[in-house]
Amino acid sequence: MPPATILDGKAIAAQLRAELAARVAACMAAGGPQPGLATVLVGDDPASAIYVRNKHKACQEVGMRSFGFELPASTSQAELLALVAELNQRADVHGILVQLPLPAHIDAPTVIAAIAVYKDVDCLHPENVGLLAQKGRQPRFLPCTPAGVMHILQVSNIALAGANAVVLGRSNIVGMPLSLLLVRADATVTIAHSRTQDLPAVCRAADLLVAAVGVPELVRGDWVKPGATVIDVGVNRIADPAAKRGSRVVGDVAFAEVAERAAAITPVPGGVGPMTIAMLLQNTLRAAL
Ligand code: NAP
Repeated sequence: MPPATILDGKAIAAQLRAELAARVAACMAAGGPQPGLATVLVGDDPASAIYVRNKHKACQEVGMRSFGFELPASTSQAELLALVAELNQRADVHGILVQLPLPAHIDAPTVIAAIAVYKDVDCLHPENVGLLAQKGRQPRFLPCTPAGVMHILQVSNIALAGANAVVLGRSNIVGMPLSLLLVRADATVTIAHSRTQDLPAVCRAADLLVAAVGVPELVRGDWVKPGATVIDVGVNRIADPAAKRGSRVVGDVAFAEVAERAAAITPVPGGVGPMTIAMLLQNTLRAAL
């Protein structure tokens, strides 16, 4: 088996951002609004701060406005809900993103449910997830990371209708909504999780295997059917004394081993990661139109 084709999410996302920049410019030239994204960060989690900063940078790159709200970890739920209510009303804010996780004293589902459904560009509001889950309904927005995975598959001409897709992970952010999108694309979907028995055998049945578990290099070469497509959503920092920073980022898939058997695979970094923000921008533009 020749080594797998590398599905270059970084390049696909760059192309998408260029298209979005052109659409934002065209929208404004036609007298439309400048799309605006509000981000809300509560507390001082360094990883969350980096994610939020990258989202603002990306907005700027495509000509969108962004508004950052940074609140102390001591912020009460009532204060956060008041900010969300204010952002729901603002005409220059088309999309609202509350960065997760929130501090433990705040109930994230309550806050998410308070976001106006037509500004829920992260697609986490239960009404928007419901639209995604119901046959015959059109969701307002597609959830960002799952939509990024679907976009990579689409532009790479990976056939989904009738394919056996195995999704490792059932989180609200990745595994579950991605499974819904794959069902919509006519794949036959198996959702595996921490209670699944004989995970390697389940994975070996997959024409398309998506790993979103947060366990470094869980998926080994012999878990993969020869010729399968493997999408690695995982982002895990592991210690590596040989690396400049003393650590490096790996996915949920043992890349070198799996690339020997798969027909196509996303790398980490440079695979799904860059797609997530591109999809957030796409949703924000959609919210503004
Ligand atoms: P999560 O909320 O922690 O969910 C992990 C899922 O994996 C759960 O459903 C869990 O099962 C399952 N799981 C955990 N260990 C397992 C094991 N040993 N075998 C089988 N299933 C197992 O994580 P998440 O938010 O979905 O994120 C998953 C990964 O994707 C993380 O590495 C995260 O950093 C990354 N991520 C990347 C992006 C991106 O833009 N690239 C975006 C979001 C997340 P149970 O339900 O049974 O507990």
